[in-house]
Amino acid sequence: MPMSKENIPETLAISRELKEQLQYYREMGIEDIGGSAITAQRASTADSRSPASTLQPPPEAFPQRLASQAMLRSGIDDATSQLTAAGEQPALFGEVIGPRINPAAQRISLAVTRSRDVSLEAVREDLGDCQRCKLHEHRRTIVFGEGNPRAKLVFVGEGPGSEEDATGRPFVGRAGQLLDKIIAAIGLKREDVYIANIVKCRPPGNRTPERDEVDTCEPFLFRQIAFINPLVIVALGSPAFQCLLRTREPITRARGQWRELNGIRVMPTFHPAFLLRSPDKKREVWEDMKKVRDYLNSR
Ligand code: URA
Repeated sequence: MPMSKENIPETLAISRELKEQLQYYREMGIEDIGGSAITAQRASTADSRSPASTLQPPPEAFPQRLASQAMLRSGIDDATSQLTAAGEQPALFGEVIGPRINPAAQRISLAVTRSRDVSLEAVREDLGDCQRCKLHEHRRTIVFGEGNPRAKLVFVGEGPGSEEDATGRPFVGRAGQLLDKIIAAIGLKREDVYIANIVKCRPPGNRTPERDEVDTCEPFLFRQIAFINPLVIVALGSPAFQCLLRTREPITRARGQWRELNGIRVMPTFHPAFLLRSPDKKREVWEDMKKVRDYLNSR
C-alpha cells in the first residue's frame, strides 16, 4: 500500500524509535532480540506462550500468591498464623514441605504485620536518619530506592556506590547506566520499575555488605517489596540473590532459573557492574531478561 503524506511523520517517528531500541541492543552486545517487547497493558488472561514450563512449580502451583497478596495489602494481624494454617508450603526451590513457613516469607509478613505500611513514604520515614548499623558512619546519603510504587518489576542490587551515595539515587553510576539499557531492552522505562538495594548506605570502598549490615537493613527492603508486591524481582548479583532467597547458592549456578519468594517470582542474574568487567556475560543476562519480559507479557 502506498504511504500517504499524512503518515510520513508518524512513520519517521516509529523508525527513529526502532533505531534507538536497536542501538540499545547493540550497546548491550545483543544480536538476537527474540519476541516482542512488553506491552503497556497486562492482558487479562494468561498467555499460553508463558515460559511457565521453565519454572518449578508452575504458576498454578502458586497458591500462596493470592493469599499473600491479600495478606500483604491488607496488613492482616497475624499473617504468619495464616501461612501456618495453610498446612503444606511450597519451599523456595519448588519442593513441597510440611507445615513450615518459608523464613523469607515470614520476614516479609512480619514486617508488614508490624508496620501496616500505607505507603513507601511511611517506610522511608521509619528509616529516618538511620544509624542502626556501622554503614552510617561513612555514608553521605541514604539511598532508599526509587521508581513506580506499583511496579510489576523490581530490581534489587547490592548497595550504593559513590555516585549513588552522592546523589541519594540507586544505580546512577556506570552500572546504573547499563541497568537503564537492560530495562530499555525489555521495552520498559526506568520510571516503570522500582530499583532498590539490600543495604541503603554505601559500604566503604564499595565492599560487599557484611552480614550484620544486611540483617539490619533488609527489613526495610522487605517492607518495600511487600508494599509494591511486584510480579517479578530481578536479583542483581550474588549478595542480592542470597539475601532475598536466604541461600548460599552462587549466582553463577542460579542465574536464569526462576525462584520464588512469597508468591513473587525471582530471577537471579548477573550484576551490571560485573557485566562492565565481563561484557561477554551480557548475552546470559539478556537470556534471563527475555524470560522476565515474556512472563510479564503473559500476565
Ligand atoms: N550497585 C548497586 O548494587 N547498587 C547501586 O545502587 C549502584 C551500584
